[in-house]
Amino acid sequence: MMEKPISFLDQLFEKRILHDSGVDGLYARSAQFEDVVSRFETFALTFGADEITESMMFPPGMPMADFETSGYMKSFPHLAGTVHAFCGCDSDHMGLLQCLAEGEDWTKNQKATQVALTPAACYPLYPILARRGVLPEDGAYVALQSYCFRHEPSKDPARMQMFRQREYVRVGTAEQTMAFRNTWKERGSVMMERLCLPHEVDVANDPFFGRGGRMMGVSQREQALKFEMLVPINSTEKPTACMSFNYHTDNFGKAWDIRLPDGNPAHTACVGFGLERITLALFRHHGLDVDAWPDEVRSALWG
Ligand code: ATP
Ligand code: ZN
Ligand code: MG
Repeated sequence: MMEKPISFLDQLFEKRILHDSGVDGLYARSAQFEDVVSRFETFALTFGADEITESMMFPPGMPMADFETSGYMKSFPHLAGTVHAFCGCDSDHMGLLQCLAEGEDWTKNQKATQVALTPAACYPLYPILARRGVLPEDGAYVALQSYCFRHEPSKDPARMQMFRQREYVRVGTAEQTMAFRNTWKERGSVMMERLCLPHEVDVANDPFFGRGGRMMGVSQREQALKFEMLVPINSTEKPTACMSFNYHTDNFGKAWDIRLPDGNPAHTACVGFGLERITLALFRHHGLDVDAWPDEVRSALWG
């Protein structure tokens, strides 16, 4: 009898690179995994460092009001997560404990808070920029990082429910944002070459929800609004998006009222690096022992 090959996820558990939590897509990371993540971030920051005007680190939650403004519930209600909390009195508490003790649903009286889990790392940035008033002539060029949540449990280690994105975000005119996106598409390939990872850039579309969703995906592709840097991780037939290059036109500029000096809504673009995905790609292609990684990769990450 043929033995089923051990999955990549199980290999990562076995080597204690990730630790199982019992919930798909929610893992503890080893010190070694985190070391690779932060070395990649340092490596990424050597590209275009002189262009960045500001850096920010976000917590994994964002204001509910801004989450609503983002339009995420229109496009991806199936992926979103919101934070709910107990807001009751003593007797509500008694009821809750009783449900818990009897294995019944104790969550039904949990109330929505002012916090939503951040679905995409750049969303919390836009309202901050809007609050500052009219953009300067040269716009904004921000480096940021955030944990993100997406309700997409999976046995594919590259599809987590909680993961980090490092992003560069450009806010300005259509020309400034398009130029930024083109530059980063090229830089992304240079980065992948230095990390000795097989890669390919392709036009992409988001998994918009429901009936209208397919048409939205087609239109996103036709306008070439999103490109992905694909690397085989869990499967060779279906490579995984490790970076994405997005042009949002003036959608977010309009939604949050970010204005150019001429009064028009700003355009925005972002490049997102999936930190866990890139780290997993490195382990997948260079082996589970970082000390044995090729010299070229080690010199890119260890300097
Ligand atoms: P996919 O098509 O694989 O679902 P996506 O189009 O949803 O990816 P984006 O929304 O563009 O990805 O997110 C930006 C980056 O975040 C991706 O390029 C990827 O590297 C990373 N990412 C997205 N979803 C996940 C996830 N579930 N787990 C880990 N990383 C992710
Ligand atoms: Zn973004
Ligand atoms: Mg996705």
